[in-house]
Amino acid sequence: MTSSKDAVRVRFAPSPTGYLHVGGARTALYNYLFAKSRGGTFILRIEDTDLERSTEESMRMQIGDLAWLGLDWDEGPDPVTLQDKGPHGPYRQSRRAGIYMEHADRLLERGLAYYDFRTDAELEGLKAAAAAAGAAHYQIERPNPLVPLAEARSRVAAGEKAAIRFLIKEKRDYVLRDLIRGEVTFPSDMVGDFVIMRSNGMPVYNFCCVVDDALMEITHVLRAEEHLSNTVRQMMLYEAFGYALPEFGHMSIILGSDRQKLSKRHGATSCHEYNERGYLPEALENFVALLGWSSPKGDEILSRGQLIEQFSTERLNAAPAVFDEQKLAWVNATHVRALANGELWERLKPRLEKEGISVPEDRAWVDKALDVFKPRMTTLLDAVALFRPLSDAAFKVGEESRDVLGWAETPKIWDAWESGLRGHAAEYLSEGDFQTLQDRIKDAVGVKGKQLFMPIRVAIIGRPSGAELKELVPLLPKSSLLKRVQEARASL
Ligand code: GLU
Repeated sequence: MTSSKDAVRVRFAPSPTGYLHVGGARTALYNYLFAKSRGGTFILRIEDTDLERSTEESMRMQIGDLAWLGLDWDEGPDPVTLQDKGPHGPYRQSRRAGIYMEHADRLLERGLAYYDFRTDAELEGLKAAAAAAGAAHYQIERPNPLVPLAEARSRVAAGEKAAIRFLIKEKRDYVLRDLIRGEVTFPSDMVGDFVIMRSNGMPVYNFCCVVDDALMEITHVLRAEEHLSNTVRQMMLYEAFGYALPEFGHMSIILGSDRQKLSKRHGATSCHEYNERGYLPEALENFVALLGWSSPKGDEILSRGQLIEQFSTERLNAAPAVFDEQKLAWVNATHVRALANGELWERLKPRLEKEGISVPEDRAWVDKALDVFKPRMTTLLDAVALFRPLSDAAFKVGEESRDVLGWAETPKIWDAWESGLRGHAAEYLSEGDFQTLQDRIKDAVGVKGKQLFMPIRVAIIGRPSGAELKELVPLLPKSSLLKRVQEARASL
């Protein structure tokens, strides 16, 4: 039985500076899957202490992307109102200043932190002097003597600027048992007394992170590899506060196809861009899940339910993951194909409308059209080019038809086409009906090959080449075909 004491609590803690990056999406997803697979709680915490970069707009952008992915959180800012939900708020670091100051005070009182009045220039000078003296590995020196706390406090109260540094009592190695990387040893000389509060009063990431993770009762921290070296400072802070250390797992980095760290240079990197480009959230989720984790069954195509069922931290991989756009395209195409026509149509409709494409839309028609086009689609965006020739609104006899318009047989072919259409009783022509009608025109007008097909094409799609007519014609109602041939004739 799981008691609340051992219930899993995990968080995604972005520092929002724009849309959600795919790396961030992966971190959020693994935390979400871990929580769901263990009946735990998934928390969203906004690390917005850098007020210039982490604007409310950025936060909304991240929240929008998380919502698009369907990674809903149990605690954190409400996606619409941004009001905190959950008993461990505030969930935005910018609203927790009092909590950080109170914690810094605790360390100051116990002699585990001190005010440092040295200016940046002085600190730079010390560093330069150490480098000049040949120090290979510079570490900040502790001021000697330290300013006594009462005196420091009154100087700060009088307006003097001072940072607060953590005082490393004892130099010793720290050993982390990372869920993904195994045992990681941080050597004793890796860090010196580090800043926990800047002289402008802003708390530093490592400090806020520990205070928040502890107060939010986080049991597991799954995050990017780049934070591994921060963990030693965080371990020191846990120890100083006497808070229980959560489990840590540092995920592999994500590389582009050139094996450099994935960045904007590689093209689209935000969830927002993938959405715009017609990727399905469930496909992006499936693909991103496999960047550093693998299914115990070897599955490559997984639904949310299967991901939750199969996810475990044991299968998270420490080796760098390569972001393979082609694989993403394949995963997306596979998810597109798996969608029922009705569902796919719901997702396509807004994109087609945005492009001014209007089509019949009754259930039977949609099924017929999607049966033809679904296998051709990699992304939802592909539907735009596929459906455009079906939209009367988009029909136009283009410049490239000029030659065909000049051919002597063209008007005769169009007359025969039109009368054939009028003589056809049903609303649609089947592929066979279309073939038969073309044969009849061939015999009546006495032309074949390009001379025959190109004028017919122009009368149907406005261009002498492109789209497969035997697929398009059965999707165009007779009324549309008639309207088009008349319009083509008018352009003669
Ligand atoms: N705000 C940090 C980031 O966005 C969070 C790191 C952590 O998960 O501890 O990278």
